Amino acid sequence: MELGISGKRALVCASSKGLGRGCAEALAEAGVDLVLNARGAEALEATAEAIRARHGVAVTTVAADITEEDGRARVLEAAGDLDILVTNAGGPPPGLWSDWGREDFIKALDANMLTPIALMTAILPGMIDRGWGRVVNITSQSVKAPIPQLGLSNAARTGLTGYVAGTARQVAGKGVTINNLLPGSHDTDRAVALERGVAKAQDVSMEEARKIRCSSIPSGRYGTIEEFGATCAFLCSQHAGFIVGQNILLDGGQTNATI
Ligand code: NAP
Repeated sequence: MELGISGKRALVCASSKGLGRGCAEALAEAGVDLVLNARGAEALEATAEAIRARHGVAVTTVAADITEEDGRARVLEAAGDLDILVTNAGGPPPGLWSDWGREDFIKALDANMLTPIALMTAILPGMIDRGWGRVVNITSQSVKAPIPQLGLSNAARTGLTGYVAGTARQVAGKGVTINNLLPGSHDTDRAVALERGVAKAQDVSMEEARKIRCSSIPSGRYGTIEEFGATCAFLCSQHAGFIVGQNILLDGGQTNATI
């Protein structure tokens, strides 16, 4: 399908690997020029070079922590005028409800709620002025169904979801859409880290740990970053202008709910 966004310019945060990279690749395939960000410069440059070689689009890189004010400022300065914004960052650590104090919540809210809000606050005015924009926030399946050990993530991402629900309706009339993508289990470094935890806790091999994790997913497998990226690119396309303030679950059916 022709997405109609060739020549547009996108910032994809936290995109040297994983879901962010999947989004960057799919946008590049649609002819979108990119600004990519991650903390580690080496993987970021390697990803940028691979995307330039494969898709022939312009790729600018900014090695910075997107959750910190100065890092964000450097990214925004390099980005300039944007048509598309994909927000993303690492997720908060797991634990038990009684582990967390105020500082832990502030850190999680900063990274997974206030960072995407700050990016939208900076970028939406230009999109509105130009009469066209697409924002996609990478959140989590935990917004629809809580993951008990991820209380910090459940809290911060649900806060962002509430903000998007209202804001998306304030900007939709200006040609700008904001939607959230909610990943379930995907085949990224994070999945391997979670498998390591299962392998250790249950004294099984990594292969067995993967089978155990996949057994609770009706699709019987993890999602791929290519599938995730394709959904992101569609939400950023000309065809998706009537999709406003939605939370799109990509979880292989794992969240057991009728709607
Ligand atoms: P990943 O494979 O570990 O990739 C994370 C990417 O983000 C890397 O490029 C990393 O590069 C970059 N990054 C992390 N923190 C950053 C920061 N503060 N500033 C800038 N870049 C940063 O992770 P993922 O699996 O794609 O997950 C992405 C997000 O989706 C996370 O918030 C995760 O919690 C959420 N999620 C993932 C899944 C899943 O199954 N994968 C499920 C639900 C939710 P550097 O380390 O070099 O910065």
